[in-house]
Amino acid sequence: MQDKPSLFKWLMDLLIPLRCVKCGSILEEKAGLCVSCWPSIPFITKPYCACCGLPFDFEIEEGAFCGICNHHAPSYKTARSVFAYTAESKDLILKFKHTDCLSSAPLFASWMINSLDEMENPLCIPVPLHWTRLFMRTYNQAGLLAQQIAKLKRWTYAPSLLMRKHRTPSQGHLSKKDRLKNVARAFEIPEVKRKQILGRVILLIDDVFTTGATLEACSTVLLKAGAKEVHALTLGRVVRPQKI
Ligand SMILES: [Zn+2]
Ligand SMILES: [Zn+2]
Repeated sequence: MQDKPSLFKWLMDLLIPLRCVKCGSILEEKAGLCVSCWPSIPFITKPYCACCGLPFDFEIEEGAFCGICNHHAPSYKTARSVFAYTAESKDLILKFKHTDCLSSAPLFASWMINSLDEMENPLCIPVPLHWTRLFMRTYNQAGLLAQQIAKLKRWTYAPSLLMRKHRTPSQGHLSKKDRLKNVARAFEIPEVKRKQILGRVILLIDDVFTTGATLEACSTVLLKAGAKEVHALTLGRVVRPQKI
């Protein structure tokens, strides 16, 4: 069913000018980025690893895996991201995470949907924050993105199926191996909610793919609880040079 046009929304669109999400300049169209900022965002396009979404800087046949996925494939089936996390693009995520730029959520969600492969009616689950962090920050940015994606695609938003049991120390300076250890047992699915996961395709949503350790930990728990398959979707992705 189509949402009814809201008079409030129409008025707000009229009163609040559209602004570039990066530099704040006023836009004439709903493009999200102005013409000078647009080329500075390293949007990820094909070719990329069919599994983890790592962009290749050379032509390769469709369906190829990167060296890491060939060697040891992650438990999630695919991971896709909108843009590489660089000095130019990180502002978009940091603003979204730490200030009140929440109005960017629908735009970011539409970009994320465009990066996604076809899939049938997944459950949209955000990577959860521990409740103490949620309390300090008042919102989970991954939750806002998941909620918008579910709304735009008419999928189910399921924020309470996956819980973060304990607060993991900041992962900023850890290697992938140490990050994996750090988050391995951080997530759980409440016993009473396991039925809802059984046989379902899961779309796991976060703001940034750093090493993939958090997504791997969440995916492992979801598959153990009986999910059919897990796909990960993030706004940004740290891209390190890879050999194949
Ligand atoms: Zn701009
Ligand atoms: Zn890969």
